[in-house]
Amino acid sequence: MEPRYAALLSRVAAVVAAQPLNYLQNFGGVTDTFLYERSGRGTITLRPGVAYCLRRFYTLVQQLSRAHWIDHIKANRRNHSILGDAGDLEDFLFSCSRQSLALVGMALRKLDGARCFYCGSGVVEADVDHFVPFSLYPRDQAHNFVLAHPACNRSKSDTLAAKPHLERWLERLATKSDALNEIGALAGLANDRLTANRVAAWAYAAANTTGGQAWLSASHYEPVTSSYLGLLEA
Ligand SMILES: [Zn+2]
Repeated sequence: MEPRYAALLSRVAAVVAAQPLNYLQNFGGVTDTFLYERSGRGTITLRPGVAYCLRRFYTLVQQLSRAHWIDHIKANRRNHSILGDAGDLEDFLFSCSRQSLALVGMALRKLDGARCFYCGSGVVEADVDHFVPFSLYPRDQAHNFVLAHPACNRSKSDTLAAKPHLERWLERLATKSDALNEIGALAGLANDRLTANRVAAWAYAAANTTGGQAWLSASHYEPVTSSYLGLLEA
């Protein structure tokens, strides 16, 4: 690693460790420990319910943080000459690069064949779909990617996939985990079969609790019953 990059990385890590935690609970000069208490040197303890709420409202918190961060960058005069009128700052800062997705798409074609993961028929143009929807788990993970027809992808949208798809996905995780690890490493994505499995278990359990529906095929849905959860425990 470039030595100056290593030094920058440790400076950024020190700032993140010191600043957000010191200032996150300060309002108008008063500290309100509504999120966490300091419980020792370098340790915090979250208040009851905070972990649940952070998970539950992750998307909302993330959107607000990103919007404010973009405003902050645009408001800095020194950035004006670099940014110009660029309207794609959000994409540039936060989205998985198209190049990474293109790499994943090509690798998935080799791994699974040029067919749609959901309906099984051949694809010419394929989307790289997040099996557990990105809106539920906004991180790119190689194990969570499958190839899909653009139409199947649009129809599934932000919905969890129904049982036959889940069964195939779990089997694929079990049998192709090494290959998926390689795809993740190639595209520079976070990568971990166990995490993918846990995220799915969490997402389906939440849907089961709230009476959610799962997507089977265009306009066909079924309720997420407890039999789904049995699959994910195995
Ligand atoms: Zn399809």
